[in-house]
Amino acid sequence: MVGRSHLLIGLTAGVVLDSLVHLSGPPITLAPSVPLKLVVAKAIYYVAVGFGALLPDIDNAHSTLGRKFGWISREIQHIAGHRTLFHSLLGLLLGSLLALGAQQLVLYLLAMRGLSAPASLMNATHMIFFAVLFGCVVHILCDALTEGGVPLLWPNPKRFGFPPNPKWRFRTGTWPEYVIVWSFIVLVGIGIWQNVIYI
Ligand SMILES: [Zn+2]
Repeated sequence: MVGRSHLLIGLTAGVVLDSLVHLSGPPITLAPSVPLKLVVAKAIYYVAVGFGALLPDIDNAHSTLGRKFGWISREIQHIAGHRTLFHSLLGLLLGSLLALGAQQLVLYLLAMRGLSAPASLMNATHMIFFAVLFGCVVHILCDALTEGGVPLLWPNPKRFGFPPNPKWRFRTGTWPEYVIVWSFIVLVGIGIWQNVIYI
């Protein structure tokens, strides 16, 4: 899928996830008053989901995110290739371990100076972690709908997709992609309007 589709689907799926598990706090549409803290938490949550929804394509220098990362993205594409590690379960696992490791390192360095991170900061980092991870998962699922499929079990090169027959899947950037993206947005929009999904 193209970057804009990933972003739109990721953010819309983010609405559904947040409505189910309230990662960014209670829904604004149900709150009697809306504290600024809640609005900030929602904004951070959606920025993180959006970033995650674009992140796997950092392995493509011509993608929306790849263009922003310039030479980093070109190097990744050169070394790993497009749709390899960054579109696999191993990539999700390594990325998660890297993020958790970085968090533990920061906590350790703070502890060495006799400091501890406030609980609110810890909650925020957990929210950002899960939001980015969710965005990445949605990205990979969406790419699985395209003709090329995704190498879920990389370094095993076998590509997976849905429907299993690639002939039934669409080519990135063609009309079925936009039908899927906008149908999903409209469905979630109806869900919000009917009070089945909360923001
Ligand atoms: Zn991708």
